[in-house]
Amino acid sequence: MDKVNKQNTEYLILRNKKAYEVIIGLEVHAQVISKSKLFSSSSTKFGAEPNTQVSLVDAAFPGMLPVINEFCVKQAIKTGIGLKAKINKKSVFDRKNYFYADLPQGYQISQFNYPIVGEGSVIIDTPIGQKTIGIERLHLEQDAGKSIHDMDPQNTLIDLNRSGVALMEIVSKPDLRSPEEVSAYIKKLRSIMRYLGTCDGNMQEGSLRADVNVSVRVKGSKKLGTRCEIKNVNSIKFMQMAINYEANRQVDLIEEGKLVSQETRLFDTKKNETRSMRNKEDAHDYRYFPDPDLLPLEVSDEFINKLASEIPELPDDKKKRFIDKYKLSSYEATILVSDYETSKYFEDVVENSDVRLGTNWIIGELFAVLNEKNLEISQSPISAKNLSKLINLIKNGTISGKIAKTIFEFMMDGDKDPLKIVEEKKLKQESDPKELEAIINKVIHDNPDKVKDYKSGKTKLFGFFVGLVMKLSAGKANPQLVNDILKRKL
Ligand code: MN
Repeated sequence: MDKVNKQNTEYLILRNKKAYEVIIGLEVHAQVISKSKLFSSSSTKFGAEPNTQVSLVDAAFPGMLPVINEFCVKQAIKTGIGLKAKINKKSVFDRKNYFYADLPQGYQISQFNYPIVGEGSVIIDTPIGQKTIGIERLHLEQDAGKSIHDMDPQNTLIDLNRSGVALMEIVSKPDLRSPEEVSAYIKKLRSIMRYLGTCDGNMQEGSLRADVNVSVRVKGSKKLGTRCEIKNVNSIKFMQMAINYEANRQVDLIEEGKLVSQETRLFDTKKNETRSMRNKEDAHDYRYFPDPDLLPLEVSDEFINKLASEIPELPDDKKKRFIDKYKLSSYEATILVSDYETSKYFEDVVENSDVRLGTNWIIGELFAVLNEKNLEISQSPISAKNLSKLINLIKNGTISGKIAKTIFEFMMDGDKDPLKIVEEKKLKQESDPKELEAIINKVIHDNPDKVKDYKSGKTKLFGFFVGLVMKLSAGKANPQLVNDILKRKL
């Protein structure tokens, strides 16, 4: 395994012979995979008609009481275990008070002093090795509704379908130091939650979005600078662009002798700039207090242990196993465990064929096709079963590696069985010594000058003869046999 270190990737902003480092912390909002909402039984299905998945609780009708969804609690605890975090046996739901039109309660039910999950960590891969990013906490909270500003020129419309959907807010420590580390962190977090089945990580649908806290300081300084929080960024690329812009803006201010003021900003994706939304409110502005409608949430050791026993093998452990068991390089293992489907595909292929050939074919040929067609591995035009068959045909000498590439092309058309293609297209490798001898005899007979040169010491000509034999056999001659027979004949 790679050594886990505390080193940062180099990302410095240089001004007037000073080097500023950028300090980043993320508050990720991850939507819990659950059929129903955190405190009501309404559906969470994405893409429904506006306001069709709203119960009286979600619409905050007076007197309606929230009821905690046990499944969402289990999902949060599982995620906590995946983040190697402390699970708090007692946590408390608080009301976070603020006014907004898409928040009918006038407060969000969240967790403040007593979150369900405490400190943990995530290991990320960086170009200079692995790095541990601290997790501060994970708490459960409700999502708000959605304001729609672009459907009616006069009015803002409200869709409450999302109101009350369960979110896990995962707060990192300010351990990130570059846009690249942020990307690696989000990807790893998403990978872990997908393995766990606790969040689908679909950023286009808003299942994963982040508030990005950015500050800068002269490298070497111990004191943190004043931070700004960029709200609700919903793609990795936008996070990176926002950090870049915001860090440079802060350095400019400091260099001009001005102060960075603590504020909440938004990222304008069209103009590629952050803009001030409001001065940053402090926690006390929200008048947090325990929600009197909900009892403190208590979970037993048995409850936690039962969930721990259901945790699947996660990416870090799987990577270690792939390196030990299949002798993969760290690079190969990292790619192959990045999502569960890929790791499963890999094991399905190599368990039934050959590890080395399988690894090369998946990372090489297959990934090239998937990238080109912009497909997930679950949409692969070639099944693991048929790819392992192809590899076995190479392994047992039925076809050469070169012919296999041709067959691979044919296989993409409807996931065809490679053996059928070999038979249909007559692509079987020629391994009959008599047939090969006939071809070789012809090559020798047709090129007396070259044979003479070869015999007088120009042994480099050997490749020339092999090339001719391969050409005459339409690439089907077994290369090993051709070598043996040619050597003997010459
Ligand atoms: Mn939040």
